[in-house]
Amino acid sequence: MTGLSAKIASVEESQTLALTKQASQLKARGVDVVSLTAGEPDFATPEHVKEAAIRAIRDNFTHYTPNTGIPELITAIREKFASKNGLEFGPTQILVSCGAKHSIFNALLAICNPGDEVIIPAPYWVSYPEMAKIADGIPVVVPTTRESGFRLTPDALSGALTRRSKVLILNSPSNPTGSVYSRTDLEALAPVIESAGLYVIADEIYENILYDNLSHHSIGAIGALAGRVVTVSGVSKAYAMTGWRIGYMGGPAEVIGAAAKVQSQATSNANSIAQRAALAALTGPDDDVQRMVTEFRRRRDLFMSALNAIPGIVLDPPGGAFYLFPDVSAFVGSRAGDTVIAGDMQLSAYLLDQAKVAVVPGTPFGSPGYIRLSYACSVAEITKAASRLAGAFAELHHD
Ligand code: PMP
Ligand code: GLU
Repeated sequence: MTGLSAKIASVEESQTLALTKQASQLKARGVDVVSLTAGEPDFATPEHVKEAAIRAIRDNFTHYTPNTGIPELITAIREKFASKNGLEFGPTQILVSCGAKHSIFNALLAICNPGDEVIIPAPYWVSYPEMAKIADGIPVVVPTTRESGFRLTPDALSGALTRRSKVLILNSPSNPTGSVYSRTDLEALAPVIESAGLYVIADEIYENILYDNLSHHSIGAIGALAGRVVTVSGVSKAYAMTGWRIGYMGGPAEVIGAAAKVQSQATSNANSIAQRAALAALTGPDDDVQRMVTEFRRRRDLFMSALNAIPGIVLDPPGGAFYLFPDVSAFVGSRAGDTVIAGDMQLSAYLLDQAKVAVVPGTPFGSPGYIRLSYACSVAEITKAASRLAGAFAELHHD
């Protein structure tokens, strides 16, 4: 037999990663590109975290660990879930993986049978539908609206349910919109989830990055949903540790057990040194996290006011994460010279070509007519990007 996997052929490459790579390659060729593609903090990993990793190497903590994670880290994660999220887990209900991305992947493989429907509110993080497909699930995209703050409503969820509905992926704070679900929003969704018998994968990786006095609420803490929710988080975003690749999840013992089995046949444990570093991050002081959030807020406000001054851009303040997700549909059908902007894909290509600013189009997030701009970069880069974008948008006109 010849030919590669038809399933994998039907899966898209991660567009956030592909566009980040494209921007880096242009930079390496000497092109002065401002890259607003990657969602990763530009801060350094905190010193005490780096020291813990160096100590781990010196202590020869460089061998396999238990598949599900080192016991000290599992304890720290349980304590964090209990004190910050109101979630009580036993030691067999935690799995440490190679990034939150890996946690979600393991959870979907553990939960889905072929043909099971995975409900994904749009705008969504680019990887959810593709991961669902790899797990033999069928992504069912449920649009949300600007009016509802891009949050899934109970009616929209009810409308998406079928006999095959199996799991809902809920992301708060959201990548790409920055929207944040309140406790009331989650309580309103709970009866629909419960009566449909859905599992929930709650992706809370941005839980620490919140603005405007908003607070984070975990849907797993709603009593009626006990036994249905897998809560995913990690150290990548809050502690500027994207390269260390440590994520984790807590959930029903049977789901975690099945996910651990998947992991035992794929990667074994997450990196031993990075687990020690994650332990230092979770049990150490939080000052660095607070400093980063304060700085992100400053950048958000600066970038928002610059973009809002561009006629045609429609943008609401994001409550969390570090992305702006403006509606740019006013520019669809416009042109600059011979370049016609047929949609957000062409607009993003035009902005890269004309302004040398790399952004991610809305289409891979399930939202044509939008673009995503990460502000996890320096104020100097934001200022440069804002002025270049203003120039490039000003060139666009409708006939
Ligand atoms: N979920 C969302 C919504 C994200 O934006 C990211 C960022 N890559 C992840 C999960 C995965 O994070 P990581 O694998 O770096 O822990
Ligand atoms: N989560 C980040 C983003 O959306 C990092 C890249 C990725 O894993 O998608 O840009």
